[in-house]
Amino acid sequence: MRKCIATVSLSGTLSEKLDAIAAARFDAIEVFENDLIHFQGSPEDVRAMAADRGLGIDLYQPFRDLDAATDEQFRRNLDRAERKFDIMDTLGAPMMLVCSNPTPGAVTDDARIAAQFHALADRAARRNLRIAFEALAWGRHVSRYSHAWSIVKAADHPHLGVALDSFHTLSLGDDPAGIAEIPGDKIFFLQLADAPRLAMDVLQWSRHYRCFPGQGQFDLARFLECVLIAGYNGPLSLEIFNDVFREAPGRRTAIDAMQSLLYLESQTRQRLASAALANPQSSAAQALGRVALFDPPQPPRLDGVAFLEFAVDTETETALGGLLESLGFARAGRHRSKEVSLYQQGDINLVLNAEPDSFARTHFSEHGPSICAMSLTTDDSIRALNRATALNCPRFDSRIGPHELKIPAIRAPDGSLVYFVPAELGSDGLYEIDFDLTARPRLKGVDAGLASIDHVAIGLPVDALDTWILFYRAVLGMQPGDSLELSDPYGLIRSCGVASDNRAVRVVLNVSQSRSTQTARAVTSQGGAGVHHIAFACNDIFATLEKLIENGVRFVPISPNYYDDLLARFDLPTSVVARMRRLSILYERSGGEYFHAYSEPFAGRFFFEIVQRTGDYDGYGALNAPARIASQAQRSAAMAHP
Ligand code: MG
Ligand code: MG
Repeated sequence: MRKCIATVSLSGTLSEKLDAIAAARFDAIEVFENDLIHFQGSPEDVRAMAADRGLGIDLYQPFRDLDAATDEQFRRNLDRAERKFDIMDTLGAPMMLVCSNPTPGAVTDDARIAAQFHALADRAARRNLRIAFEALAWGRHVSRYSHAWSIVKAADHPHLGVALDSFHTLSLGDDPAGIAEIPGDKIFFLQLADAPRLAMDVLQWSRHYRCFPGQGQFDLARFLECVLIAGYNGPLSLEIFNDVFREAPGRRTAIDAMQSLLYLESQTRQRLASAALANPQSSAAQALGRVALFDPPQPPRLDGVAFLEFAVDTETETALGGLLESLGFARAGRHRSKEVSLYQQGDINLVLNAEPDSFARTHFSEHGPSICAMSLTTDDSIRALNRATALNCPRFDSRIGPHELKIPAIRAPDGSLVYFVPAELGSDGLYEIDFDLTARPRLKGVDAGLASIDHVAIGLPVDALDTWILFYRAVLGMQPGDSLELSDPYGLIRSCGVASDNRAVRVVLNVSQSRSTQTARAVTSQGGAGVHHIAFACNDIFATLEKLIENGVRFVPISPNYYDDLLARFDLPTSVVARMRRLSILYERSGGEYFHAYSEPFAGRFFFEIVQRTGDYDGYGALNAPARIASQAQRSAAMAHP
């Protein structure tokens, strides 16, 4: 389907916006009036700039407050519309969006509104332009699409139709099912926006918190399904007002925008296809035959984290290797042709890459010691790669030596790598080709009971959270959980867990709302996104912690007050809480239990978390994160002012 985006959705000057939109391969734009009013050139220039970039101008918007109580006022409104038509002629924009009137002066007589729209459509018809009527969620009299449609129907003019905007419908909790009953050729335009569920004034919600489909919590696929069943086959247009996007780099935003539309098309296609399968005569089946919807390979099944790769230099390799050994890892192998070593414990594989002149070394010089790649075990690594590239993720091809294994890889939004390892390769198959594993027998005896990677936590700049949620959702088929706000001594942090359906892969995304939190400082010192901790799961956290402390691993001390509070909050045996206090183990309970402890950071970059889950606990101990952060903050404050 034709893909369009409103210029208001991106940051930058108009020409920067058009560059970003064209680079992300959109077909067309909606010109938002303010972008034109503030542009230091003529409408002819805008038309030429769009044409130079291969972009059509599908819509000019918005025209406000058309309906009027007096004939005199209405005549003035028509004059005002004629001036806009002049501009549209010059721009080559064929359609104007007129939104419902939110002012106290709004006409409340539907017949009068219909007559006035008919008069406007007549004027538009003389210039071969079309009018699309949009119900704003905060419209004074008309706030729902069904109402806008009844007025359009009554006005009965071929140059007048409705504009649908998913935000206005879904923010009111209105049912989109009725859209399917509107004749498709009377739906003139379709705007798509998602949003997080927020309890706030709908106007403010719309102006500041819209996001791309797949980044919020609305059911956009169901909305689009209804629109397609109606018979609409015009452009899919994104109209996003978002404070963060207004600051974020426009190029990235445009890439996300296109990815979100492709993802939405594929989800909608699936809905239509399953309805068509159930009933080949259904309106869903007909819709499927009418429009060609994006159909990428299915998301991969994720079976776990095969390995994590750290970018190090020779010096940090030694230091990190030492820490891993005290965490119970064994140095199990050495790469046959590169300066890369493998550490193993349980099902955990950690790769330390110190190879000069490699991707890892570039990553190291930019970010210091850090995670540069995450490798996921999948049922079909080629399908996973093909889905990712279909959704516009760049693929990555590494330099490989003779007889070495080639693992498909893509770049995550921050440029780090995600490898797709075929499950059938198994852990042995994966490493025995590239690594000399003769050291492996040493594994026995040093093990501290760490069994698998529970989750990886990534710190992000505030404008990157939506990008990453969309990436995990669209590309990897993972689902975000609730987004939580946590307190840091110096501000607020927003934390959102993303997990595969089977919970074999979990990633926690943390962003700082303030510039002075620990998360913010970690992010800026790493110049972008960065893994700030890795959580290892074990089956007996008490035994594991005893062993690790004996090995000299240092854990973040937790205030005794925390444990007094724990006794008050939960009916835990005092002896257990005393043991937790001695070992700095934190606790949370919700459908099951979560025991966890945090190591001191390595080189000020990242740290490790030791976790044990029981029952159906599905979170990440987020409520305890402030206990860790406060402790770390007190430590650094004490170091700064001894
Ligand atoms: Mg709109
Ligand atoms: Mg964690």
